[in-house]
Amino acid sequence: MKGLLKYLKEYKKESILAPVFKMLEASFELLVPLVIGAMINVGIANMDKNYILSMGGVLVFLGVIGLICSVTAQYYAAKAATGFAAKLRYAMFTHIQAFSYEKLDTVGTSTLITRMTSDINQVQNGVNMFLRLFLRSPFIVIGAVIMAFYVDVKAALVFAVAIPLLSVVVFGIVFANIPLYKKVQDRLDKVTLATRETLNGIRVIRAFRKEADEIREFDEKNKTLTGIQLLAGRVSALLNPLTYVIINLALVVLLYTGAFRVDVGGIKQGDVVSLVNYMSQILVELVKLVNLIVTLTKAVACASRIENVMQIKEGMGLDLEQSADKSDTNSECKVETAEMTSVSEDEKNIEETCCTMSSISSVLQDAFIQFQNVSFTYKQASEEALSNMNFSIKKGQTIGIIGGTGSGKSTLVQLIPRLYDVTKGCVMVNGKNVKDYDLDELRKMIGYVPQKAALFKGTIKDNICFGKEDASDEAIEEAILVAQAKEFIEKKEEGLDTPVEQGGRNLSGGQRQRLTIARALVRRPQILILDDSCSALDYATDAALRDGLSKLSYHPTVFLVSQRTISIQDADQILVLDDGEIVGIGKHEVLLRECEVYREIYDSQYKEEVESHES
Ligand code: ADP
Ligand code: MG
Repeated sequence: MKGLLKYLKEYKKESILAPVFKMLEASFELLVPLVIGAMINVGIANMDKNYILSMGGVLVFLGVIGLICSVTAQYYAAKAATGFAAKLRYAMFTHIQAFSYEKLDTVGTSTLITRMTSDINQVQNGVNMFLRLFLRSPFIVIGAVIMAFYVDVKAALVFAVAIPLLSVVVFGIVFANIPLYKKVQDRLDKVTLATRETLNGIRVIRAFRKEADEIREFDEKNKTLTGIQLLAGRVSALLNPLTYVIINLALVVLLYTGAFRVDVGGIKQGDVVSLVNYMSQILVELVKLVNLIVTLTKAVACASRIENVMQIKEGMGLDLEQSADKSDTNSECKVETAEMTSVSEDEKNIEETCCTMSSISSVLQDAFIQFQNVSFTYKQASEEALSNMNFSIKKGQTIGIIGGTGSGKSTLVQLIPRLYDVTKGCVMVNGKNVKDYDLDELRKMIGYVPQKAALFKGTIKDNICFGKEDASDEAIEEAILVAQAKEFIEKKEEGLDTPVEQGGRNLSGGQRQRLTIARALVRRPQILILDDSCSALDYATDAALRDGLSKLSYHPTVFLVSQRTISIQDADQILVLDDGEIVGIGKHEVLLRECEVYREIYDSQYKEEVESHES
C-alpha cells in the first residue's frame, strides 16, 4: 500500500480537507442530543413554547451545517480517491506497456486485467472510505462517551461497560470474517477464470460435446464459492442481533435506573433522552467502523496485488528502460561491430566471446543480418529453444525458414525485432547489435507479421495504418495489393472503412492474415518477417503474395517462415530447423540433395500434392 500512496500526493489538499470536514460534521452531530435534552429539560418542563421553537431552529441549523460539511467532505474524498485511481491506472498501463514478452509470459494477461480493473476499484473504494471515516468514526464513538460523562457521570457508567463489550463483539466478528472474505475472493477468481475460458473456447466445447462436463465443473466451482459466501454471511449475520441485544440491555439499564433517579430528582428527563441518543449514535458509528475495516482489508489485499505488478522491472516494451538496457549489453558481442583491429588485441576476450574470428570476417563485408552463436532459453523452460545458431543474410535476400512445429521458427524471428533477448550470442542488424539500437529505431525498420493474426477493433484502414499512422494512400494501396487483400476489401460494401470487430472476429482466418501482412507492408520496412503468415492462404494466393513481395521497389529483406516447402523453395537461402538447431542452410536444390530433414518434409508434401491431384 505504501508504494501506491505516492499517487495520492497530488491530492494532499483533498486528503486533508475531507477528514477535517467529516470531523466538523461529527462535532455538530454530537451536539444534537444536548439540544434535545435542553428542549425537554427546559422547554417542555416549563411549557415554554418559544424556547422549544428556538431550540428546534438550532436543530435545523445544526442539520444544515452538518449536511454542508458532509457534502464538502464527500466531494473532496471522491475527488482524491478517483484522481488517485486514475493516476494509478495510468501508471500501471504505462508500466505494463513496457513489459517485455518474457515478463508478459510469466505474469499472464488475464490477471493483469483483473488487477488493472477490479483491484484498482477496490483500492479506490478503500481510499474513499478511509478519508471519510478514519477520523469520524472513532471521533464519534469516543466523543459520545465523553459527552455521556459530561451529561451525567453515574448514568454514563453503563456506557463504560457496554462500549467495550460491543467492541469485542463487533471486532471479533470482523476479524473472524476477514480470512473468509479472502477465500471468497479466491474462489471468485476461479469462477471468473472458468467463465472466461469456457466462453473463449465455446466452439471447441460444443464441437467436442463437452458442455455437460463444463457445466458440471462450473457448478462445482460455483458451489464452493456459494458455500464459503454463506459461511461468511452467517458469521456476519450474528453482528446485528448480538449488538442490538447489548445495546438494548444497556438501554434497559439506563432507562430503569434513570427512571428511579428522575423520581428522586437525581437526573433530569432530558438528560436520560440525550444518553439514549448517544448510545444509538455509538452503535451506528461502530457498524460504520466495521465496514471501513472490511473495505480497508480488501483494499490492502488488492493494493499488494497491484504493487506486485508495479514492482516487476520493465524491459524492451517502451523506451523508458533504454538507458538501463544498454548498460547491460552483452560484452561478448561488442567486438565485431567496427573495431576489427581491437579484436586481435584482445585475445582473451575473443575466447570468451561466441564470435570466432573466422565467422566474423567471413560475414562482415556485406552481411545485413547475422546470428552469431545465438542460443535462447525461455524463462520458464528448462531446455534451450534455440541452440548455437550461426548464419548471415545479405540485404534484400529472401530467407525461407522451415521446420516442424516447435522447432523454434517463431522464436528465431522474434529475436530480430528484439521481442525477446538472446540468452547467449548476439543478433546483428546492419553491423550493429540489436541491443545497441534504440528500440524505436530498430522496430521502425522491421515489419513483423506474427503467427497469430491480431487485429484491433476499428476499421480495416485503422488496422492497416496501425504501424504508420501517416501512411499515404499510395502506400496503403501498394500494401493491400501485395498482401492480396485488395480483392476481398473491394468486395466489402464499405471498402477500407469496413468495421473490424475485436480481434477481427468478423473476418476469416485468411482475410485476417492478409490484413496483418498489409499492416506490416505499409511501413515499407527494410526487414519483413512473415511468421507462418500464409498458412490460411490457398496456394495460388500464396504464390501471388510471394511474387508481389519480390517486386517491391524498396527491396526488403524477407523472412518467410513456413511449414510448406513450396512456399519457400525460391528463397535465396533456406534455414532448416529441427529441435532448435539449424540442420541445413542453402538453396532448395542443394538441401534436397544434402539435408535429410528437408528432403523428408519435401517428400511428404510432394506425395500429398500428387495424391490430391490424382483423387
Ligand atoms: P515453431 O514456431 O517452430 O512452431 P516456436 O518457436 O514457437 O516453434 O517454439 C519453440 C519451442 O519453444 C517449443 O518447444 C515451445 O514449446 C517453446 N516455446 C515457445 N514459446 C514459448 C513461451 N512463450 N514460453 C515458453 N516456451 C515457449
Ligand atoms: Mg511458430
